[in-house]
Amino acid sequence: KKPQHRKGSMMDVPRDLIEEIKVLKSIFSVSPAKLRQITDHFRSELEKGLSVNGGNIPMIPTWVLDYPTGKESGSYLAIDLGGTNLRVVLVNLLGNRDFDTTQSKYSLPRKIRTATADELFDFIATSIQEFLHEQYPDGCKEEIPLGFTFSYPATQSAINTGLLQRWTKGYDIKNVENHDVVPMLQKALKQKNLPITVVALINDTTGTLVASHYTDPKAEMGLIFGTGCNGAYYELIKNVPKLQKDLPKDISPDSPIAINCEYGAFDNEHKVLPRTKYDIIIDEQSPRPGQQSFEKMISGYYLGELLRLVMLDLHQKGLLFENQSCDKLKIPFHLDTSFPAKIEEDPFENLSDVKDLILDELNIHANIAERKLIRTLAELIGTRASRLSICAVAAIYQKRGFTKTVHAAADGSVFNKYPDFQSRATQALADIFDWKMPKDQYPIVLVPAEDGSGAGAAIIAALTENRIEAGLS
Ligand code: BGC
Ligand code: MG
Repeated sequence: KKPQHRKGSMMDVPRDLIEEIKVLKSIFSVSPAKLRQITDHFRSELEKGLSVNGGNIPMIPTWVLDYPTGKESGSYLAIDLGGTNLRVVLVNLLGNRDFDTTQSKYSLPRKIRTATADELFDFIATSIQEFLHEQYPDGCKEEIPLGFTFSYPATQSAINTGLLQRWTKGYDIKNVENHDVVPMLQKALKQKNLPITVVALINDTTGTLVASHYTDPKAEMGLIFGTGCNGAYYELIKNVPKLQKDLPKDISPDSPIAINCEYGAFDNEHKVLPRTKYDIIIDEQSPRPGQQSFEKMISGYYLGELLRLVMLDLHQKGLLFENQSCDKLKIPFHLDTSFPAKIEEDPFENLSDVKDLILDELNIHANIAERKLIRTLAELIGTRASRLSICAVAAIYQKRGFTKTVHAAADGSVFNKYPDFQSRATQALADIFDWKMPKDQYPIVLVPAEDGSGAGAAIIAALTENRIEAGLS
């Protein structure tokens, strides 16, 4: 095929490729009308998840039954099992809406995503032991309460239990699904004679919600836009039909309860999300096909992979990187989200950073037209992720019937590091609600969250201890 030339920025781009870009633009764009349709369906799915029969979105009651007052105080340990690190944090709650923390990170063994349960919990216990040795060189006399941040969907029959429903984000450790992870951790700690009691199991979103509300009473949602995606908010017990049976007598229907939505599972039945063939490949090649449909289109674990799949497709059609071997481009998950993020960060007219990046990461020489194309692809994927992500926030806002201004406290690598994620998400909110007021008067404000898995876990541990002391369920 002879390339045809055109004027303007698409100069030197073959005609076939221009056609292909048009198609990609259309399949990756989400119009305001589509955003509204998704948000409407989202809202009814949130509702369904709270019903007696349940739905796709788990809507897990966390048994966090209080808003923090900001006065909670004391010393607590918190651990956070993330994708690459285990974080151990000693939190000192100061009781005046403030706290300080001391922490260490322990990098997870490379193969941990597919290790055994014993290896995982032994690694955690060993790291905590090391941390305690450093913090208490003379030994620790008292029993320390620990809040365990576990960022996976876990059914909670009480605050100190968590039955793993399913692994997400590429984790695949045998014999943990359908088991309570708290006794597993407690057993590993006991084997090392560590003076620690696991008092609360906490989703990272719940921790984010509580930590942010501790310092900012306007914070009504805790959100993670990271390797995975999810959100938590306070619901009223009386609005959770599935809780009405077996509810302890001392819990009032007007009491708040934090709900861990687990909305990464939104639209697993594929009714509204604009899935592309690339999304379908990602799902089919994942260890858990059919699950976390929403998450697989928007979260950090998948954005680099999406871009890789599109580039590979264009290469295989003979439209990109012609006559180059592209071996690295063929390796699944070879690119993480930092790849499209860095591409979007390149400030130069000739995209020289993009050029270097592609050479470094993929061993491919990209000409200027190819670099521009890849930049366009990154923009499409990043913009789609931020626009779809925010539908969840709009839906929670509507579901709760808020009329006041609320702060949606957000954390996670995509929120914090992906260029323009926040401004694109805010624009999408304005599209959904058709807001015409000045930006600084928008009723939903995305704000950077407090450290949920450290401070949040500690505050929840403190709230739990306070309830136990008061003799409450
Ligand atoms: C998990 C959630 C978690 C989210 C963000 C998802 O994959 O299912 O429990 O909150 O990732 O870390
Ligand atoms: Mg995390």
